[in-house]
Amino acid sequence: MAEKAALNKKIGIVGGGQLGKMLAIAAGPMHLQISALDKTKDFPAGPFVHEFFEGDFKDYDDVYNFGKDKDVVTIEIEHVNAEALMQLQKEGIKVHPNPESLNIIKDKGLQKQFYQEKGFPTSGFKIYEGPEAIQAAVTSGEITLPFVQKMCRGGYDGKGVKVIKTPEDLKSMLPGESLVEDLVDIDKELAVIVARNESGETKAFNAVEMTFNPEANLVEFLLCPARIAPEIEEKAESLAEELICEFDICGLLAIEYFLTPSGELLVNEVAPRPHNSGHHTIDSCYTSQFEQHLRGVLNLPLGSTRIKSPAVMVNLLGTEGFTGSAIYEGLDNCLAIEGVNLHLYGKEVTKPFRKMGHATILDDDLDQAILKAKKVQNELRIIA
Ligand code: ADP
Repeated sequence: MAEKAALNKKIGIVGGGQLGKMLAIAAGPMHLQISALDKTKDFPAGPFVHEFFEGDFKDYDDVYNFGKDKDVVTIEIEHVNAEALMQLQKEGIKVHPNPESLNIIKDKGLQKQFYQEKGFPTSGFKIYEGPEAIQAAVTSGEITLPFVQKMCRGGYDGKGVKVIKTPEDLKSMLPGESLVEDLVDIDKELAVIVARNESGETKAFNAVEMTFNPEANLVEFLLCPARIAPEIEEKAESLAEELICEFDICGLLAIEYFLTPSGELLVNEVAPRPHNSGHHTIDSCYTSQFEQHLRGVLNLPLGSTRIKSPAVMVNLLGTEGFTGSAIYEGLDNCLAIEGVNLHLYGKEVTKPFRKMGHATILDDDLDQAILKAKKVQNELRIIA
């Protein structure tokens, strides 16, 4: 029976953080066998997987040895050893996302070139070897201030991104090969998660809207559904489906967009895995992004992405000024609010702004959900 065979496959996740944990939890109801690879089984996925392999996901041998007895290997972080994944693929193991696309996505310069070559809308850009070359381009008038400098490799969560507005800012540029991007006038930041399986079926979740804390310049809330016109929603979803097909990816692809005041939708960047912008789907959609990823990589029919309830997702970050064994202050008050779903990642140590968990707040009225999310944010302090 083909159906039973699909469910009996051994699935390996390279990475054992919170995304690995939530993938493993999603695997539970279908009794799928999940293993994870990461530095220590004290990481979030540790208690939830069938087997945990301690090793380095950047190391060729560790990734290869982990993957060689699996049927399907997938990832929960991009910065893994793609050469080992290529070798596994050559030996007949299913690797999703495909390592060639992973290599493009890992490098922001290659990613932008991909959008340009394939005709996807994205902001203007140039690639430079490093800060000296950027400085020379400014001096010669090849580029003008303001612009956004992004390290081609290794950045995440805004680390590796710098807005250069003044000649003074040029002195503190980031090291290494970099993208220089036009500074976009952003009306809203949106994200769409789309899934695909080997049979070629694709399905997108509704767009979500990110709101930013103006002081910390960090994503504060994620709203689902996004407050956008239906034609923008349609465009964001159809671009996502085109992108996942162009990249030839199975499983999930998360696409971050900038919406400009004139209604233009620009692709900022993508991630070929479950994503922070899809955490609300666990509580608020017919199928969670994690189950959808598993369905995609196992070539099972994709689940419905319909929304069960409007939702706000808030990341629970370590409070500034505290580093050490985590204490969750105000948990009782948060749990008492109707519609608040807490997801704690079980990280032993808190650090300022470290992602320690998230909360998804459900309410029939999105504005009420936002008010409740503000309450959660004020009540819950993760200290040491
Ligand atoms: P990361 O991969 O570290 O999350 P992003 O490319 O998403 O980096 O950039 C982080 C944030 O910086 C974005 O969410 C956006 O607010 C801002 N940003 C990035 N690129 C631009 C740009 N070209 N113009 C204006 N703001 C930008």
